Amino acid sequence: MAQIRIENVRKDFGSFNAVKSSTFTIEDGEFFMLLGPSGCGKTTTLRMMAGLELPTSGEIYIDGEEVGQKPASKRDIAFVFQMFALYPHMNVGKNISYPLRSQGMPKAQVKKKVHEIAEILGITDILNKSVGGLSGGDRQRVALGRAIVRDPKAFFMDEPLGALDAEFREHMSEELRALHDRMNATTVYVTHDQLEAMQMGDKIVVMNHGVVEQFGVPQEIYDWPATKFVAQFIGSPCMNFLDFKGSVSKDTDSVQLENVSLEIPKSIDGVNGDLTFGIRPEHIFLDDSAGYRGRVVATEYLGTTQIVTLDTPNGQIKARVASSDKISVGQQTGLRFDPRTVTLFDASTGHALR
Ligand code: ATP
Repeated sequence: MAQIRIENVRKDFGSFNAVKSSTFTIEDGEFFMLLGPSGCGKTTTLRMMAGLELPTSGEIYIDGEEVGQKPASKRDIAFVFQMFALYPHMNVGKNISYPLRSQGMPKAQVKKKVHEIAEILGITDILNKSVGGLSGGDRQRVALGRAIVRDPKAFFMDEPLGALDAEFREHMSEELRALHDRMNATTVYVTHDQLEAMQMGDKIVVMNHGVVEQFGVPQEIYDWPATKFVAQFIGSPCMNFLDFKGSVSKDTDSVQLENVSLEIPKSIDGVNGDLTFGIRPEHIFLDDSAGYRGRVVATEYLGTTQIVTLDTPNGQIKARVASSDKISVGQQTGLRFDPRTVTLFDASTGHALR
C-alpha cells in the first residue's frame, strides 16, 4: 500500500486559483477525508493526487516517488467515482474481473482473484447474476469489487455515497469502513459532510477557498479547531462565538466579558483588540449562580438532550443540556463555561490562539 505526500501543491484554472499552496501527508493504510464546502478545492486536490489533473506547481509523492506530472495510468491507484457505474451487459463476476481481463491476466488467476474479492465483499452467491436486477447495496459492492480487484496502491473516492438516501448511506459508510479495516488500503475520500468525515476518517483535512485550514485526527479537529472556519464547519450546532474587545498575553488566565471574568486556558499567543471567545454547546452549563447572564429565546427538544438558544450581551449562543432540565422561553439564567474547553480566536485573522 502507499504513503501519499503533497507538498506546496497549487492548482490554477486560467487566472483562477482553485487550490492554494497545500502540504500534508497521508500515511500508509489511512482512511483519509478531504472535507470542506462546495467549491473549496477538495475534488481538485483528489484529482491531482490521482493524476487526473496536473498541479500548476508543487510535488506529489506516492511512496517517496514524485508523481506530480505522471498520468493516472502510471500511478497504480483506483478511482471510485459514483459506485453505481457498472457495465450493464456484463454479469457481476465479469464486472469485477474487467480490469484484470483488460490487463491480459490469465483466466485461472482472474477467477481466483474474483472469488477472493467476492468473499471479502460477501457477494459470492451473486457472481453469475446480471447486474440489472441487483439491489442498491449489491450494486455498490460490485462497483467496489471492480475498484479493489487490481490491488491498487491507494483508493480515491469522490463523494461515493452522495446519491444515496440517509439510511442506506449510513449503512454503506459502515460497510466501507469495515472493508477498509479488513484490507488496510490507503483511502482518500472526498466529502462535504462533516459527520461522515468524523465517523469514517482516521484523519481529516478541512479545506476552505482552496486553503488547508487544518489537518489532524477527528477529535483534535473537533476539540482544538485551528480557525473559526473549522470551529463553525464541524459540529452541529457549531461552536458558539462571543465577540469582545480585550487584551490577552502569554499566561493570561481570564478575560473580561461584560465585566464578568471568564477563565480561559493558559499559554496562548498575545492579542490586543478584537477577540472571539469560542465554546461548544455541550460545554455550557446553565447555572443561576454564574455571573455571565443570558435570556432563553428558544428550546429545541432532541430526545436525550435539548438545544437552548440564549441572548447574551455578546450575541446569541446555543447550549446543549439534558432534556430533563426544566427551561422556559423568557427565563434569565447564568452561564458557566468549562474553561478547559474554551478556544480564543484572534477575530481579525480567525486563527485560534494557542
Ligand atoms: P464540490 O463539492 O462542489 O465538487 P469541491 O470542493 O470539490 O466542490 P472543486 O471541484 O475542487 O471543489 O473546485 C474548486 C474550484 O475550482 C471551484 O470554484 C470550481 O468551479 C473550480 N474548477 C474546478 N475544475 C475546474 C476546471 N476544470 N476549470 C475551471 N474551474 C474549475
